Amino acid sequence: METLQGQALAHHQLKQLKWTLGQSQNIGFYRKALQEAGVKPGDIRTLDDVERLPFTNKKDLREGYPFGFLAVPREKVVRIHTTSGTTGKPTVVAYTRGDLDNWSDLIARNLTMVGLREGDVFQNSVNYGLFTGGLGFHYGAERIGLTVIPAATGNTKRQIEMIQDFGVNAIHCTPSYAMHLAEVAEGEGAKMPTLHTGMFGAEPWSESMRTELEKRLGVTAFDSYGLSEMYGPGVAFECPERDGLHIWHDSYLVEIIDPKSGERLGTGERGELVITPLVKEAMPLIRYRTGDITKLMEDECACGRGQKIGRITGRSDDMLVIRGINVFPSQIEHVLISLPDVGNHFIVYIDRVNHLDEMTIEVEINRASFSGELRDLAKLREHVASELHNTLGIRTAVKLVEPGSLPRFEGKAKRVVDRRGQLW
Ligand SMILES: [Zn+2]
Repeated sequence: METLQGQALAHHQLKQLKWTLGQSQNIGFYRKALQEAGVKPGDIRTLDDVERLPFTNKKDLREGYPFGFLAVPREKVVRIHTTSGTTGKPTVVAYTRGDLDNWSDLIARNLTMVGLREGDVFQNSVNYGLFTGGLGFHYGAERIGLTVIPAATGNTKRQIEMIQDFGVNAIHCTPSYAMHLAEVAEGEGAKMPTLHTGMFGAEPWSESMRTELEKRLGVTAFDSYGLSEMYGPGVAFECPERDGLHIWHDSYLVEIIDPKSGERLGTGERGELVITPLVKEAMPLIRYRTGDITKLMEDECACGRGQKIGRITGRSDDMLVIRGINVFPSQIEHVLISLPDVGNHFIVYIDRVNHLDEMTIEVEINRASFSGELRDLAKLREHVASELHNTLGIRTAVKLVEPGSLPRFEGKAKRVVDRRGQLW
């Protein structure tokens, strides 16, 4: 039986879905896509009818470069961001004044949800500029009156000094940068007693990484999820329960699909997150395939904010297929962090040897376990390989390397090197 709250929400979502469809008809791509799917905006009468609408994917947006997905005159756009495209042209994301307002409100809700209040000192240690994490968090934090330090990335020693000198309470950065920060602070013997909240996003991370970050930085760590195509960060965020992320259902309609067949999956089933934003003016999107793998959670949260999604466990395009088995880099990270003698710095190499996929994992030995020359290297290597085998279901080669010898990442970590060449 639906609660009154649920009915009111569904009513709001349907109204906004219809509005979004109307807005989408200002875009040539969507006029054509709906025609080809044989659907008119007026055919959508219930929320379930969304299944009749076609998907939008990253490639479509790229082909619309630069302004093919604008639903408003270009003059109404007050800001542009682009995604960090790894190949070819980036994707352009455009915002009206109303969009920037909505976005700041969403971020403000997230910051409030994790307990931050006016006057708290907040260091935003992500890339400012075209990346949405910088300005997105910045304006949301100012909206609720936090004291914002736009630290951006780089110069880690200076970042630590700022935390100490300004009495920083909360930090936002990527989880891999947070780990680097902890490492540098430990190396310097620097204490950061005022810091109590960490918000980490822009790359998937694991529960064991959370434990590690909380212990080493002395923070409560919250998972942040977003993507530039949906404004940026602020799509979903953890509440103090820290068991799954709240999607703001008034602004985003979410579905989970099987990434291969495109069929919709049920609650609790893991698949690709598909989002239809409900309030976007400049760039409305219909059923956008995020590529992120997660699930809709079974139970509503004890905090009363409604249904959550699970932690993002990978990207459908990050998924490695090794000898026919699906492997996510986050699974590897999870295993390595749980082993006290090795660290969370690793690189995965994939090669094809005699027509067979071979995976080699280079991982740093922890400083504490490294005495210049480890005596029982072979035994440790075997132990790591067997733990990986247990979780991944395939055998991997393990190479132990000295602490501090692998590259560190300030933005998104690049931990997989696939040397098999183009397979498809
Ligand atoms: Zn909650």
